[in-house]
Amino acid sequence: MSSSPPKTGAPKIGFVSLGCPKALVDSERIITLLRAEGYELSATYEGADAVVVNTCGFLNSAKEESLAAIGEALAANGKVIVTGCMGVEADRIRASHPGVLAITGPQQYEAVVEHVHQAVPRPHDPFLDLVPPQGIRLTPRHYAYLKISEGCNNACSFCIIPSLRGRLTSRPIGEVLREAERLVAAGVHELLVISQDTSAYGLDLGYAKSAWRGSEHEARFLSLAQALGSLGAWIRLHYVYPYPHVDQVLPLMAEGRVLPYLDIPFQHASPPVLKAMRRPAHQEKTLQRIERWRALCPELALRSTFIVGFPGETEEDFAFLLDWLSQARLARVGCFKYEDVDGAQANALPGHVPLGLKEERYARLMQHQQAISAAVLAGRVGKTIEVIVDEVDDEGAIARSHWDAPEIDGSVYLNGQTALAQGDRLRVRVTHADEYDLWAEPIGSAVCAEKGQYAEA
Ligand code: SF4
Repeated sequence: MSSSPPKTGAPKIGFVSLGCPKALVDSERIITLLRAEGYELSATYEGADAVVVNTCGFLNSAKEESLAAIGEALAANGKVIVTGCMGVEADRIRASHPGVLAITGPQQYEAVVEHVHQAVPRPHDPFLDLVPPQGIRLTPRHYAYLKISEGCNNACSFCIIPSLRGRLTSRPIGEVLREAERLVAAGVHELLVISQDTSAYGLDLGYAKSAWRGSEHEARFLSLAQALGSLGAWIRLHYVYPYPHVDQVLPLMAEGRVLPYLDIPFQHASPPVLKAMRRPAHQEKTLQRIERWRALCPELALRSTFIVGFPGETEEDFAFLLDWLSQARLARVGCFKYEDVDGAQANALPGHVPLGLKEERYARLMQHQQAISAAVLAGRVGKTIEVIVDEVDDEGAIARSHWDAPEIDGSVYLNGQTALAQGDRLRVRVTHADEYDLWAEPIGSAVCAEKGQYAEA
């Protein structure tokens, strides 16, 4: 946010959204409520009548970033309402920024709106019909996040999400499917299914059935994937744990109904470290499970994140992880250096790893994985794949394949393809690869995804 256009008409609210995709969904809900009441969004602090800052409280570095964002909004605007994960630490926020108007925790949509009313009275005549039925989204028009549950029943020792967001609370499946349907009808071509633990979906509801399109569907991971797979959009599953029942969605991936992509935050591979982390499914034989998945769906891409330098991680544990990565051949990997999070149990574990050693292990893991990713992606050269276009400029189009989630994975560059449009889906032949990205050429003519079919070459 920067320069300041003149204020006219409806009251304007500035919005800063920090943190993970789940927080982004919270922001979208709050903005939808505000727009339904006739508020408008401001792209600048100065043009806003008040600013909402949706914070992240996951890591200490994220909290620092949140405090800095609050300070910036206060300096530029003066009327600031804080919400989100860091909102549960109201004392800390007030100690740094006593001038904030109000502080709420995550998912407190109505409370945020109430505080906005107090700061900036709601417009007299709400323009309800200005809000599209699918709500307001902060993502580009062609993809959207679909949050299926809140909270988490696990107790990973490095994580405070369960204390921030509570235990698993799944949305009824009918409600999720109706939202998905509205999004697709509004032009969304890719749904990114998110939660804290997608494989646990529905457990808290006793897998209760609800109606959608004239039949009953169970609130269960498999039923959800099946129903979403009937919508004709790309369905991408995030935050899945390697439980045995996950095997059941692999045939849907092989049939092309769900993208052949699983985002599984393994975090480590060495059994003692996984045990100390108290990770879900840590006793599963994951390499065997991955092999089984690949037998069911050879096109499967796995993405994961790892933490290096967890308290007690020995050189043997780390070498085990590198060896595991060599065998697992994951397409996409992110890595974090362990850091303490206020309130997490892992802070008290013995054997904290010195910063220099953490940095060394981080660099070794990234280098090791780069060679694996480069080899995995080199295997894509010469293949025909489907891509979706994210951006077009005067040099060509930047797209993504089934293997690439937005923001976190690689891209497919289509040089010279300036006639494509955002959201187009087309088949391409891969001509070149490096360790993260692909380069490709279209096969036949470009196709507008709105038509739902590919043009003949
Ligand atoms: S699965 Fe573990 S890391 Fe993920 S939200 Fe739950 S407790 Fe935190």
